[in-house]
Amino acid sequence: MAKPKVAFFDLSCCEGCQLQLANMGETLLDVLGLVDVVEFREVMSEKWAETYDVAFVEGSVTDAHAEERLKKIRERAKVLVAFGACAATGGVNGMKNSFDLEEIGKYVYGADYKSFPTAKTRPLHQVVKVDYTINNCPAYIPELVEVLKHILKGMPYAVPDHPVCVECKFNENVCMYERGVTCMGPVTRAGCNSWCVNNNNVCYGCRGMVSNPRENAAKDVMAKYKITPAMIAAKMDMYNKCREGKE
Ligand code: SF4
Ligand code: SF4
Ligand code: SF4
Repeated sequence: MAKPKVAFFDLSCCEGCQLQLANMGETLLDVLGLVDVVEFREVMSEKWAETYDVAFVEGSVTDAHAEERLKKIRERAKVLVAFGACAATGGVNGMKNSFDLEEIGKYVYGADYKSFPTAKTRPLHQVVKVDYTINNCPAYIPELVEVLKHILKGMPYAVPDHPVCVECKFNENVCMYERGVTCMGPVTRAGCNSWCVNNNNVCYGCRGMVSNPRENAAKDVMAKYKITPAMIAAKMDMYNKCREGKE
């Protein structure tokens, strides 16, 4: 039986998620045994397919050209995967949405800013239908492997919708709030096994917000540690500025 044809593409991003994949080590050999990679600019120059069984798209839509390109990829792909936070939720690119586009165009490009047309940042699902989502910055390899297994079996994958704190407690970390540091774990989707906190860092909210954050519990925590809503909102905007209906 022919192996599924898999292609990788990037829009506005740092390509760190593709790098994660390329650095998977022995697991990558297992993956390559199951699929045919037909396009992957970061690791090979060949392109040998016009259509794809699975297209992984990294990065956000931040201009008209990216929108056009994404729509063409969608037309050619049976399955489309939003690969990493930039693609899944807008990620750090979403911070642009906090500013007037003309103003930041001038700031970055000076008098020639009109030569570099731009648009508000959008995650892929706000432009085309997305079949699978990998919400992390950068992609978390165990989840990437899990999503790939679901794709190959034709099964849906649901991004976890409980907070990072659940995983953090299972990992027996000392809570960052107890150390006097604000952490986005209580409102951020799990699935990374509390990666950052395990490594002595805070959660920055890179996986996007849980759909039903416990507001009362959050208010209790904020009151206990004297944290203002504005402080939390500013931290959440680092990765979560493209939420539906949020300007
Ligand atoms: S999600 Fe993070 S690592 Fe991946 S492309 Fe975007 S900025 Fe880079
Ligand atoms: S360190 Fe962060 S993720 Fe862990 S329990 Fe505390 S708030 Fe939650
Ligand atoms: S701990 Fe938070 S910031 Fe770190 S990978 Fe997980 S969701 Fe992202």
